[in-house]
Amino acid sequence: MKIMIVAALAVAVIGAVALKKGRAPNESKPATTAAAGEASKSAPVTGAKLPKLLDLGAGKCIPCKMMAPILEGLKKEYAGKMDVEFIDVWQNPAAGEQYKIEMIPTQIFYDAGGKELFRHTGFFGKEDILGKWKELGVDISGGKPSAGIVRETPGAADTRPREAVCSMCDEDANPKTKTVVKGQSEQRVLCGPHCYFIYFSSIVGADPKAEEAKVSVTDWASGNLAAATTANYLYGMDAKGRATIKAFADKDAATKEQQSNPGNLVSWDVLRSKELATRCVFCDRAVYPEDACGVKFGTTHGHGCCTHCSMGVAARLKQDIEVEAKDGLTGELIRVKTLDGQIASLEPATAIAWFGQKKGPDGKWASAGCFKQGFFVNEANLQKWLEARPAMTGRQISIAQALADKMKLSPEQIAKACKLGECK
Ligand SMILES: [Zn+2]
Ligand SMILES: [Zn+2]
Repeated sequence: MKIMIVAALAVAVIGAVALKKGRAPNESKPATTAAAGEASKSAPVTGAKLPKLLDLGAGKCIPCKMMAPILEGLKKEYAGKMDVEFIDVWQNPAAGEQYKIEMIPTQIFYDAGGKELFRHTGFFGKEDILGKWKELGVDISGGKPSAGIVRETPGAADTRPREAVCSMCDEDANPKTKTVVKGQSEQRVLCGPHCYFIYFSSIVGADPKAEEAKVSVTDWASGNLAAATTANYLYGMDAKGRATIKAFADKDAATKEQQSNPGNLVSWDVLRSKELATRCVFCDRAVYPEDACGVKFGTTHGHGCCTHCSMGVAARLKQDIEVEAKDGLTGELIRVKTLDGQIASLEPATAIAWFGQKKGPDGKWASAGCFKQGFFVNEANLQKWLEARPAMTGRQISIAQALADKMKLSPEQIAKACKLGECK
């Protein structure tokens, strides 16, 4: 059998390869037509006692190669609950005929009696495979306890006075750097100028001049509040390469501080352009690269302000991405690659996500925001991280779920993502 390879984007199915001789790429069947209705076409699997996932592919086909670690993972994780089998149809062309497949990879789902329930063509991610079993009404969990940490009530209440807590990042508002935005009736406390710029970049249609006029910064020398736009800023760097900002009402005091703690003296306008230079590719918030996840799309490198935003880049750009995130506890690297809106690879395979949530007045759980999210190399690290954060609520989810949650968003929802008062 001669096998034809078609460019992935030339067909409706991303990452599928045509198998039949003489079949032109544009005649290739899109994956969406593969359905449970075609169940009778393959030979029944005899002697099967467990539900079975059969993947027909080839060692050298790219989407098939990306399926391989997913299948390996499922095989281990669901041993004794589900059979997972791979057949290389280039080495074994008769199998292609036997199972009547036209494109690779093709995944066939069988129930425990060997009856075909569903088939899918093209790359199929772990979360989608598990979701499909659920949809087909086949329980492959085998009574496995539902994995993952859930914390719906805080271990301890947050008793800090409101004016001592940054309203963006929830850290203590350092009295030396506290920044205040005065509204008509109330004021917003921020831990420093950096969180002001995160706040500013989270407002829809914000007018910089109108917003800035409301901002006061703490004078490093006296501890008194001063107008932000006329203050002088000593812009330095800490040992991690992260920017440090000290505000001074008086330039001489700034120059004096500069002698013992080096940095550049800059105006508010320069500070603003520095602070707004790096933005989250998903939600457009200002972010320091040192705090962010690295996201690569095509040949471009960008940043996600939090781990969940970094997954959102795949949804916003409709592109495959590579993410480099740091474990929230230890800083160990976690690498995620996506393909067609699904997880193509995850290193380490044990990595999981924390979805920080808070209960709204309507009793519904909603995202607690970018500062409450994280990835961890394993559940033990998440557990330790949570122990240090008793006020945190939310739940453990898979990284595939973090991506799937973002892929579900409409362009309108993405435009409002992380925007103050808009993000639902
Ligand atoms: Zn803050
Ligand atoms: Zn973001």
